[in-house]
Amino acid sequence: MQLLHRGDVGPAVAEIRNTLAALGLLPANTRTGPSIFDDAVEQAVRVFQQQRGLITDGVVGPATYRALTDARWRLGDRSLAFLVSKPISGDDVFALQERLLELGFDTGRPDAIFGRETEQALRSFQRDYGLTPDGICGPGTLRALKQLAPKVRGGRPVLLREQEKVRRAGPRLRGKRIVIDPGHGGADRGVYIDNVHEADLTWDLARRLEGRMVATGMEALITRGPNASPPDADRAGFANEAGADMFLSLHIDANQSPLAEGVASFHFGTGNGTTSTVGEALAGFLQREIVARTGLRDCHTHPKTWDVLRLTRMPAVRMEIGYLTNARDRSRLLDPAFRDVVAEGLLVAVKRLYLLGKDDQPTGTFTFDDLLRHELARAEGA
Ligand SMILES: [Zn+2]
Repeated sequence: MQLLHRGDVGPAVAEIRNTLAALGLLPANTRTGPSIFDDAVEQAVRVFQQQRGLITDGVVGPATYRALTDARWRLGDRSLAFLVSKPISGDDVFALQERLLELGFDTGRPDAIFGRETEQALRSFQRDYGLTPDGICGPGTLRALKQLAPKVRGGRPVLLREQEKVRRAGPRLRGKRIVIDPGHGGADRGVYIDNVHEADLTWDLARRLEGRMVATGMEALITRGPNASPPDADRAGFANEAGADMFLSLHIDANQSPLAEGVASFHFGTGNGTTSTVGEALAGFLQREIVARTGLRDCHTHPKTWDVLRLTRMPAVRMEIGYLTNARDRSRLLDPAFRDVVAEGLLVAVKRLYLLGKDDQPTGTFTFDDLLRHELARAEGA
């Protein structure tokens, strides 16, 4: 398709204006005459792109156009079925996939496209609940879907697919999209002792990590501004909308006892079998690199069902890096050089995940320069 940007006029612009208005991003067009892609449209497009994790350039290219078209649909607006020649896509399909997964039917990774797997999952659902198994999501099926309470959270099929995705993603960091989540922020200062605030330290760590990731060609997105504190569910939602490959939440711990110290990592898991295996592997790499590089006490990795781990649809880890209530941990965290060591360790751990353990550098010795060399060598070989 042709790119649409500021200054363009015509029916395609009218369509974009209508969609943005329907999404509440633009006032409805009451003027007569040709539709113009003006400053207001450009601004609305930027907001929309940001919400969807698209490149925020204010220009409507194929990806933004597709996302705008998808965003118009709400579950129930139309019947949904698998059309071989031209699969239906839209936010309504995504809502259907999420619902089926919650009920324990494997649609595959929710991708907003009604494909064969979605059809099979829908037929199974219909069969199990005494409906005609026609694979069509019409009014009757929709009613049944809405009445049932969720049975499964973080369905296992999705977790298994995470592993396959990492394997297929290849060893290079370039092009991978990570969401870095600095804990707390804004009015929520997190833990604070002697004018040292967790919210400021996590922000600083996130920026150090972001800089290194961008240098390797990764796309690094941060869940909050320096002075904002969105709820964890929004932070997870941000990562989901961005289609991130990985989510890393950074915190610093506190304890009533000043003796408590060390670093711990948390991945999604119920503690009785349902575990994100990739999340667990990533947590292990992160934990080992930080322990080896910093000498912080090893408080190990643990499964949790916290919001940032449960609601994210990609491998996610939350780390508690040191205790502000411990004098030794605190003085280390206050040292910018120490925070650089932490950032480097986190980046190397992410690289190790994608290398699938196929590297011979002992934990704690892989440097940022080694990593850049590895990335460049790969780029030339590609
Ligand atoms: Zn915290």
